[in-house]
Amino acid sequence: MQKELKRTIFRKIKKYDTIVIARHIGPDPDAICSTLALKDIILNKYPNKKVYVVGATVARFKKFGKLDKINNKEIKNALLITTDVPNLCRIDGVEDLKYVDSIKIDHHPYEDDFGGLDVVDTSASSASEILLDIFLNSPFEIPKRAAENLFLGIASDSDRFLISTTSTKTFDLVSDLIKKTGIDFTSLYKKLYERSIEEIRFKGYISSNLTVTDNGLAYIYITDEILNQYKVDTATPSNMINDFNYIIGVYVWAFVTFDKKNNYYKVNIRSNGPIINEVASHYNGGGHKFASGARMISKEKVDELLKELDTTCKEYKKEF
Ligand code: AMP
Repeated sequence: MQKELKRTIFRKIKKYDTIVIARHIGPDPDAICSTLALKDIILNKYPNKKVYVVGATVARFKKFGKLDKINNKEIKNALLITTDVPNLCRIDGVEDLKYVDSIKIDHHPYEDDFGGLDVVDTSASSASEILLDIFLNSPFEIPKRAAENLFLGIASDSDRFLISTTSTKTFDLVSDLIKKTGIDFTSLYKKLYERSIEEIRFKGYISSNLTVTDNGLAYIYITDEILNQYKVDTATPSNMINDFNYIIGVYVWAFVTFDKKNNYYKVNIRSNGPIINEVASHYNGGGHKFASGARMISKEKVDELLKELDTTCKEYKKEF
């Protein structure tokens, strides 16, 4: 990353006494870990600043650290730093927040202008990788807990360095992080990959009930009754979508989960070839080229999405 860009980030952090850090709704470990790490890094250098990590608490991510509960209406003259979110409507926990400046740190394809500084690198594996690039070998030290969270964010979003956004730069940065901070990274994996027996049984249900089309789309509808039967929640399918990579003849796979409480269908989509975020964007969704998501109220729309994904697979199959 360019030195001047880093200096601008450092100047903004130095300037503001109150900093609010936010990420996307329906967070994943990269979203959570990047925000928590950033807070620790800033407070380590500026212990007197007020730094808050906002957004809804997710029970299964409590192990990464504690989020802050603040009254946004009482916050004045704040710098807002967002990580891992490209669009204004998906920033979690900033309703009524009047911030005077902002920094967007993201690795998604560009969507909205947040009106501040953009630090967007779509080639980065994760938002955590961009933060590591900013703060490693900088006037900021990376405390141990922040180092662990950055490692977890990178390992998780790159699917343990398996996804093609993993680059030699990712390895260089992670290697330097481990050398510099001495984190015991192998022991950290448990935080990401530990599963209850109910989840493992539920994974068995998905494996047994995936529909695979002739064009190479694998999908499953997960009802509220099934979630209850297996004693898992609506976030569980997101937790295992990456485990269904490398099925011979499958190019795209999608889990459709009905969220009864909020009355919408949540769709997790992954691909090992066809570009899916463009399709997802037609259905109130988005994300990365090969890892996307969408939310819909109507079942008809979900069927349409699956049909379009199937056509995308068909076209991809013809080309390759
Ligand atoms: P997920 O399947 O929830 O892990 O999401 C995969 C990627 O798609 C992440 O980068 C999310 O930020 C993005 N994503 C998920 N749902 C949506 C949505 N409704 N709108 C835009 N992007 C989404």
